[in-house]
Amino acid sequence: MKQVKFLLDEDRIPSHWYNILADLPEPMEPPLNPQTGQPVGPQDLSALFPMDLIEQEVSSERDIEIPEEVLQYYRQWRPSTLYRAHNLEKALDTPAHIYYKYEGSSPVGSHKLNTAIAQAYYNREAGIKHLSTETGAGQWGTALSLAGVAMGIDVQVFMVRISYDQKPYRRAMIETYGGKVIASPSDQTQSGRDILAAHPDSPGSLGIAISEAVEVARLRDDTNYALGSVLNHVLLHQTVIGKEALLQMEMAGEYPDVVIGCSGGGSNFAGLSFPFVGENLRNARKTRIIAVEPASCPTLTKGKYAYDYGDVAGLTPMMKMYTLGHGFVPESIHAGGLRYHGMSPIVSHLFHLGQIEAQAFAQNTCFEAGTQFAQTEGIVPAPESTHAIRSAINEALRCKEAGTGETILFNLSGHGHLDMQAYMDYNAGLLEDHEYDVGEVEHALMELPSV
Ligand SMILES: *Cc1c(COP(=O)(O)O)cnc(C)c1O
Repeated sequence: MKQVKFLLDEDRIPSHWYNILADLPEPMEPPLNPQTGQPVGPQDLSALFPMDLIEQEVSSERDIEIPEEVLQYYRQWRPSTLYRAHNLEKALDTPAHIYYKYEGSSPVGSHKLNTAIAQAYYNREAGIKHLSTETGAGQWGTALSLAGVAMGIDVQVFMVRISYDQKPYRRAMIETYGGKVIASPSDQTQSGRDILAAHPDSPGSLGIAISEAVEVARLRDDTNYALGSVLNHVLLHQTVIGKEALLQMEMAGEYPDVVIGCSGGGSNFAGLSFPFVGENLRNARKTRIIAVEPASCPTLTKGKYAYDYGDVAGLTPMMKMYTLGHGFVPESIHAGGLRYHGMSPIVSHLFHLGQIEAQAFAQNTCFEAGTQFAQTEGIVPAPESTHAIRSAINEALRCKEAGTGETILFNLSGHGHLDMQAYMDYNAGLLEDHEYDVGEVEHALMELPSV
């Protein structure tokens, strides 16, 4: 029997997260205060985040210790398993070796709990009693609600209207963990009321929901804001994935030629890939690193590298990133977690420097790959994760044509058990492949803040 699973002992969960800021070949440009246009200082952020997270946001220390209490929670599902996809390789008849790191084994079914637990922990240490946040497809709201109840913090979740209506099971899961769900845009914030006045039937967007969640946190001293992706500290927490994968690839006796992750805000992609990017930067490894996004929200492949807001209302700091414009509302594709107008500033910086690659795929071809994966490897992937699978299969087929036995590693960021409607639609031939709306992006890009 060939080995398919590479399990690490519990005591080999990494003791530190990896901070790629320590190894960047060129420094990043700072986030700017939306009012003054000046670089943000810790004071600007302290209304939203605890000081420990603000420090992590700007730290240049390479290894940042994971608190013992966070490690205790991690042990519930970590180290996550690394699998060799023998059956998929066979079906593709490829000489490539395909590995995947499975983050769907966390209690919430995705990688998001890796940072949710850490963020709730630092907020509790700072005396915070309430957290407000947004959720697109519902995975982040689910993760933060579980983390909140674990740390004794109330969680309020602004859920993008269309998901609120279309994903009742996610909503139920958040509520089961004790989170409070509000459909966004809502009448509970000024940003929400402004949107509703102009568009009473707004399906919402992540950018709108972020505006609402940030507004709530701004106005209350005992309330902070938590973001599930994009920011440096979020990506940092996710690097536990890639640090484990480095050890597991060593157990497998291989080193990846290609590392792949789907990318919405960039956190699961960064989580798996940054430790390997670090090896490229420090130890002259030459692994190709690929971020995969939806063709209907092609931030890296079609966006502009510029300062933009993280939200629709312009309440967040301006970040230098690839963006489609903060007013851009992507099509309602099933991979809700990938519908974000911007991209993590670190991922954007690395792309700009040519350290990573990007690809974009339409949803039908991704579901086709996800279905082939389910039939060979048994796990039904989250719609977001099917983007990484599409890319991995394409790379494996390229190897077949070229007759090269490369090693491919991708992140299976979550399972799709609560997304079966998407698979039903795909199976019934009802999924549309939206190209993104070029005119709408041009329009949204005209509204970029001038700095
Ligand atoms: C949220 C989510 C994503 C997208 O978020 P990133 O920050 O880009 O990782 C991808 N996959 C799953 C399963 C998710 O829940």
